[in-house]
Amino acid sequence: MKKVGFFQSIHLKFVLIFILLILISMEIIGVYFVNKLEEKLQQNFTSSIEGRVKSLEYLIREAMKSDNNTNEDMSSKIHKILSDNETNDIEEIRLIDSNGVILGTSDSSNQSVTGQRVTDINIKRALVSGKKWDRRFIDKAGKRIWVLVNPIQLNSNDTGYIYIVGKIESVYKEINEINKIFTTGTAIAMVITAMLGIVLAQTITRPIADMRRQAMAMAKGNFSRKVKVYGNDEIGQLAYSFNHMTKKLQEAQATTEGERRKLDSILAHMTDGVIATDRKGKIILINNPAAEMLDVSRETVLSQELVSLLNIEDLHQFEDLLKEQDSIILDFSTKEEPYILRASFSIIQSETGFVSGLITVLHDVTEQEKIDMERREFVSNVSHELRTPLTTMRSYLEALAEGAIDDKEIAPRFLTVTQNETERMIRLVNDLLKLSKMDSRDYQLNKEWVNIIEYFHHVIDRFEMAKDQNVTFKRKLPNAGVFVEVDLDKLTQVLDNIISNALKYSPEGGQITFRARELEEMVELSISDQGMGIPKDNLKKIFERFYRVDKARTRKMGGSGLGLAIAKEMVEAHGGEIWARSEEGKGTTIYLTLPYDRTQEDDWS
Ligand code: ATP
Ligand code: MG
Repeated sequence: MKKVGFFQSIHLKFVLIFILLILISMEIIGVYFVNKLEEKLQQNFTSSIEGRVKSLEYLIREAMKSDNNTNEDMSSKIHKILSDNETNDIEEIRLIDSNGVILGTSDSSNQSVTGQRVTDINIKRALVSGKKWDRRFIDKAGKRIWVLVNPIQLNSNDTGYIYIVGKIESVYKEINEINKIFTTGTAIAMVITAMLGIVLAQTITRPIADMRRQAMAMAKGNFSRKVKVYGNDEIGQLAYSFNHMTKKLQEAQATTEGERRKLDSILAHMTDGVIATDRKGKIILINNPAAEMLDVSRETVLSQELVSLLNIEDLHQFEDLLKEQDSIILDFSTKEEPYILRASFSIIQSETGFVSGLITVLHDVTEQEKIDMERREFVSNVSHELRTPLTTMRSYLEALAEGAIDDKEIAPRFLTVTQNETERMIRLVNDLLKLSKMDSRDYQLNKEWVNIIEYFHHVIDRFEMAKDQNVTFKRKLPNAGVFVEVDLDKLTQVLDNIISNALKYSPEGGQITFRARELEEMVELSISDQGMGIPKDNLKKIFERFYRVDKARTRKMGGSGLGLAIAKEMVEAHGGEIWARSEEGKGTTIYLTLPYDRTQEDDWS
């Protein structure tokens, strides 16, 4: 924040206000005081002169009483009286008779006016009115004078006038002096006030500056500072409230921070991806799972458009997503790997209905979709597998119905085919039932302890007795017995299928080798043939339902592709594993392991 300049500071304003207040009050006092004083002094001045008129009247009347006076004597007598009474504050005194003739003057240098008539129009008017008259003037020298015309009784018949010019300028001089003293006083008062103002203003500005510093520190996240409380006045209260507010803010910030961390950890640890966008569809938040699902880095996608990140800009606009509030499927599958996400949207809306953004939740539904796809495929496979024998049977039955039944040679053959097809269908349905049983939850194994080596011999014996092919069986089995806990019925089905596969794909004169060996915690059985083998890419797939390497070839051999799928389910239900190794043209080996507990076996023996 910018520092407050001196000319904008409260400090200066305080000082200016103080000075102005003093100036205004001094000015008001001064004007009132000086005016009153001036009035008083003028009053004093005029009344002191007026007071002397009475004594002058008396002196003049006395002088006029002695009638043996000549005119000469008279005027010199009057001159004497007037000049005797002329004090410092008087410029000139004249005596004028009722006709306006000047009878005498105190001014010795201007005795010539004696006997002349008054010329001044103002005085003439005053004489005509016969009343006391006074006025202030400015004389030719620029000085202020006060003129008084006062009627007096010269004798019992005659009236005259005393005309006095007072030097009232002295009063103004005095006022000026006082004014000067006042100005100096004001200046001194202002200087003292300014200094006091600086000190006083500091008591207000210092806490304010302190609070300002604290506010700046708080903006930077430092809440540890405290404003010093100087007193219990309003500023002190403000500082106290400020400190209180700091504490509350700190608490609020801690809460927000805590909430943010909570949210962060929720977002980071949830398995679903979460993306938040602003009102315009620009990404403002993305959690790790979302970034991983979309294979982007969190930093680079911020403020990118949501629709372009989800790669749906051709199909949807951001506004559609706001309106629909539904979910859409995003298919990022490649040829090698399926990858399907479901994006669900919900808008962030305030109580007033203002939309401030959109939350997108990404959920990996690849597995779900895969299961859906498998289910569809399964149904179609089952229908297909059932249709083939049914159509074969229909055509044979049709032929029989159309007369072949009477043919002694063809009829039994045709009936055998339909019988075989029916059996195939029963087999298929039975297999399907087995699988569906294993899929259901209440599937249970009837386990019992058996010597697996002895049992393996027994199964091989059965096949050796029944075989009608030119295939030799070779056993590489340990002599000592190995006891494992298995469901014999299930294990028989597994071995039956593997061995019958080996027989099915063995060439004329081929050899099938049976092996068994003890591993750390497992017993491993394997069955190898010298058949055409399985291409490497298909090795895992042969354990999938309905999968056959070469459909045309195997169907001829009567397989539906469920045998190994059932075997896998059963072996895994025992806690074991099943896998295949094969070399095309050379042969195939199917391995299976079953868990085997040596200590338990020791107990047995
Ligand atoms: P089913 O066992 O249901 O009668 P199937 O034998 O065709 O039919 P699986 O036993 O599941 O089905 O075998 C799946 C596929 O794996 C077979 O169709 C075949 O293509 C291939 N296969 C299995 N065993 C061998 C083997 N020993 N040699 C070559 N291919 C094999
Ligand atoms: Mg089979």
